[in-house]
Amino acid sequence: MIKTYPIYSIRLSFIQDDLFDQKDKLYDKSREGLPKGRMKNSLSYHYRMFRKRPDFIVLRQEYEKIFYQTLDSNKKYPIKNPTNLEIKINLYDYEEWCPTWFSHLIFDNGQSDEEILKSFAEYVWRIQRRNQDEGSYKNGYWNEPYCLMGAEDRWRWRAASENGDNNEDPDKYPPPCRCNGCKERGVIVINH
Ligand SMILES: [Zn+2]
Repeated sequence: MIKTYPIYSIRLSFIQDDLFDQKDKLYDKSREGLPKGRMKNSLSYHYRMFRKRPDFIVLRQEYEKIFYQTLDSNKKYPIKNPTNLEIKINLYDYEEWCPTWFSHLIFDNGQSDEEILKSFAEYVWRIQRRNQDEGSYKNGYWNEPYCLMGAEDRWRWRAASENGDNNEDPDKYPPPCRCNGCKERGVIVINH
């Protein structure tokens, strides 16, 4: 019996100064219905797993705070004069592993390394089967609802080094990861 937890997708959308070339047709849709010089933008999806159903009001406040605190750090895609901030929190799945950027995490409930590796292998199989069952063709392309980000290849599985670098050699840093960062967050990670 696997122990599953609620996983939510979190997405921030807002209106900001248009910093792209006005002739760039790619962005026409994001300017629709807005005054000249303004455009819609969003910050990409992010998944977060909770031990129990979160308080959505508190969660929205947390992301709003992070958004305004980190505005200046977006050097590559500057966010200037944002308004109409909307924080969209949607239930994504109930699972034991939460997808993160080229890694997955599970809550540390005292599992052994062997149990973790077995659990992750079973998770990957489960997701692949669900992708087969729930996938569909969209505009002629096969579309899968759950992204594994390379976890399908077992040789990619690895831990981070002591300083948290997760691009390390799996032979030197075999999975799973129980680094200090993981311990602080109460999770165990497999990078891939
Ligand atoms: Zn770690």
